[in-house]
Amino acid sequence: MSPATRDDAGYPAVGPLAAPAPGELLLTGVRPYGEGEPTRVLIRDGVIAAIGEGAEPADPAARTLDFDDLVLLPGLVDIHVHLREPGREDTETLATGSAAAARGGFTAVFTMANTAPVTDDPAIAEAVWLKAQAIGLCDVHPVGSISRGLRGEGLTEFGMLADSQARVRVFSDDGKCVDDPMLMRRAVEYARGEDVLLAQHCEDPRLTVGAVAHEGATAARLGLAGWPRVAEESVVARDAILARDYGGRMHICHASTEGTVALIAWAKERGIPLTAEVTPHHLLLTDARLESYDGVYRVNPPLREDRDAAALRAALIDGTLDCVATDHAPHGSEEKCCEFEHAKPGMLGLETSLALIAGAFVLDGPCDWRWLARVMSERPAEIVRLPGHGRPIAVGEPANLTVVDPDRRWTVHGEDLASKSANTPYEGMELAVGVAATILRGRVTALDGVADPGPAA
Ligand SMILES: [Zn+2]
Repeated sequence: MSPATRDDAGYPAVGPLAAPAPGELLLTGVRPYGEGEPTRVLIRDGVIAAIGEGAEPADPAARTLDFDDLVLLPGLVDIHVHLREPGREDTETLATGSAAAARGGFTAVFTMANTAPVTDDPAIAEAVWLKAQAIGLCDVHPVGSISRGLRGEGLTEFGMLADSQARVRVFSDDGKCVDDPMLMRRAVEYARGEDVLLAQHCEDPRLTVGAVAHEGATAARLGLAGWPRVAEESVVARDAILARDYGGRMHICHASTEGTVALIAWAKERGIPLTAEVTPHHLLLTDARLESYDGVYRVNPPLREDRDAAALRAALIDGTLDCVATDHAPHGSEEKCCEFEHAKPGMLGLETSLALIAGAFVLDGPCDWRWLARVMSERPAEIVRLPGHGRPIAVGEPANLTVVDPDRRWTVHGEDLASKSANTPYEGMELAVGVAATILRGRVTALDGVADPGPAA
């Protein structure tokens, strides 16, 4: 029950992990970070044992995966997903969400606390963590709520969740904003004391009553109630100043506006401990999509304008925004195929994000695979202080790896995804990058689009 190692705050450093895959696995024809000549990587008992043309398994019967000049990255890490279990297993479960993560190239994800019941209690966090470890396709870390029951009144017991087997290190009321400034001030002080991260969904609810679309020309023309930028930016500004004055690490969920980027830059220039994520849909889609009135495009915060998306892309490239997070939000068809105003906000993301980000920023953009590893693996793992993920591809490191095919064309079909829901905004879109394999501590969790392919696949 009690892990041997403890972290700087005195909490268990590593919860009980599923055992690494025993034995050897050899990868051939892979280029770490897309650099240099194709080479071989030998994994032994879940750890990278050798890299180079001379890497040979000791066991001649060891499994080999032969690739033809593919890109090897550290396993991707998503610090913002909704896997819906417990409570809405009709839309996603830990099993289907883990399979979607593995197919998308992820080895670790953080699932938000807005489940039913809310993850505000160690027993719920431990149930999620232990069940996902038993499934074994992805390390699923439960996020604890900041306020009990997401009610925005009293604080959750951060220390008890941090000390649980789930070792909760991230707290968020995501889906809702902690808008009460006094409660957020107390949360910041408590989080500093416990050395945990607060992730804020920035939305002043008094400015978004009834709002379903970005407040702008498109919403006005379509007759949709507008969600103004100030509802996000005012909370970003307030929380940056709370972090400045009361310490504590603060993380901004799903930044969506040009002004948020400027505020984060302001905070970082002053050394305020603020980090921020951005979703693929806010980087690459705009409210022009709403012309169809298709509920699949309803999301919170809403899709914004060209100038916002352009500012977000520039900020992800220059490091003002730290990382990509999908905000993977499964919804059933009855929650999406209805009037736009009645559609539930949120879209799928786990199985399309790598292809979208690689396509826009690496294949068609100025970035390289090392940058992609930074924003989709290393930096998110650093923000949440996650051990074992986002590590260098080097001998002695845990074998959490993603093999990427930069020349694999495929067409997105919601019905073909591993997710239990199909609410992808990219239906019918052809993407140019695919995940060839995902490896979690030496276990092949996805291979050629098949999650959990088994030991002999
Ligand atoms: Zn959110």
